[in-house]
Amino acid sequence: MAKLTDISWSDFEKLSLEEKKPYLSQSDGDGMPYHTLFAQQFDRSILERLCNLANRIRFINKSKEGALYLKSVLAHKRAMLYFSQPSSRTFLSHLAACQILGITTGSVRDAATSSEFKGESHEDSIRTFSSYFDMIIMRSPERGLAEKMSWELSNSSRPIPILNAGSGKDQHPTQALLDVYTLIRSFEEKGGLDGRTVVFCGDLLRGRTVRSLSYLLTNFSNVKQIFVAPKELQVSDDVMQILKEKGVEYEISDNLKEATSVADAVYMTRIQDEWDNAKGESAKIDTSKFKFTGEELSLLKPDGIIMHPLPRRDEISTVCDHDPRAMYWRQMRNGMWIRAALIASTFGLEKSIMNCGY
Ligand code: ASP
Repeated sequence: MAKLTDISWSDFEKLSLEEKKPYLSQSDGDGMPYHTLFAQQFDRSILERLCNLANRIRFINKSKEGALYLKSVLAHKRAMLYFSQPSSRTFLSHLAACQILGITTGSVRDAATSSEFKGESHEDSIRTFSSYFDMIIMRSPERGLAEKMSWELSNSSRPIPILNAGSGKDQHPTQALLDVYTLIRSFEEKGGLDGRTVVFCGDLLRGRTVRSLSYLLTNFSNVKQIFVAPKELQVSDDVMQILKEKGVEYEISDNLKEATSVADAVYMTRIQDEWDNAKGESAKIDTSKFKFTGEELSLLKPDGIIMHPLPRRDEISTVCDHDPRAMYWRQMRNGMWIRAALIASTFGLEKSIMNCGY
């Protein structure tokens, strides 16, 4: 088994994501992540196991007895939610997931209220959290910070797991998990996710959810990906390179109507203008053609779905909100269940929950 204690940070940092993966897995060798940092850690069998566990947890939670059982499984654990970037759903759904499993939580949501404001390093902050908690769920504007912190903690006297809840423009693995869970549930009685066409639209350059989900979809057979965006915000070369290497069919487009008419799922995203290099830079881009309105809705297949990681601005018209194909509200709730499944698995509880008597 590869261990983070057997490799220096500088050697680890140079590895490809595929090469890093075994260092981040649980020690029992069954492939479940210990530190969850990027989408490349999930293959199809792990994804299916997590989705089954999420389904099991949401079923058990329906009865009071079941909910109380779930609340007991990790009642001896504490989790730190360390969010130094804005968040509503990711923060709250992780919090709710912890509550379902009985985990007590603490949080820092603004670095200005922590000792980092006094100049403390991230390393020292994380070491501090690990003194009091058993897991750190973290969001940061810095790409790679969760990775560095995982290495630091694994090489400390309190080697606790880290869960990446969004890292810069780079990755958002738990969002991609809930997106895949939503796709699997949406198509489970309609022939499954294999062979489907997923359209991504909006800011595909800076949207980390797109980067993570695009990768996760490569685990399924013949899922075509169509990237619809203004040319300034088109998906980056490294995403296309992965798709090429994996032999995944993809298309670059600027025509949302055309793409919608062949889509099984349309994944809309917000313009990520917080990353603008110069103020107002994004506002100069013509994004008017990249909005899902009643017109696009009329072109969508009867069993197609509309997704969005949220928050939304005006890229999905509210006229779509009550259409049964609008999946973004259910997608959001799915996040709580799949995150509960991931956290339970991180603490080695997959089998006991799957096999419990509820
Ligand atoms: N909530 C998602 C994220 O944190 C999407 C967004 O902010 O647009 O990346």
